[in-house]
Amino acid sequence: MSSSPDSQSGESVAVTFRGRGYARLRGTKLSVLICPRCSQRNAPKAADQGYCQWCAYEPSRDDIEPAQAA
Ligand SMILES: [Zn+2]
Repeated sequence: MSSSPDSQSGESVAVTFRGRGYARLRGTKLSVLICPRCSQRNAPKAADQGYCQWCAYEPSRDDIEPAQAA
């Protein structure tokens, strides 16, 4: 009844970097989906490695803030 397709390693959390960009944090794994520096939508392969494919920016985890729930 409460089965989730994405439950293998806990739930992911939507985050921003000081209000910019967009990422998902699951455990300690950070996926940068929208770059906080150039605002481009990131490629999945680069996103999972925590940097921007376009400008090679790697956001600091010190900048992570929880995203506002829509
Ligand atoms: Zn970028």
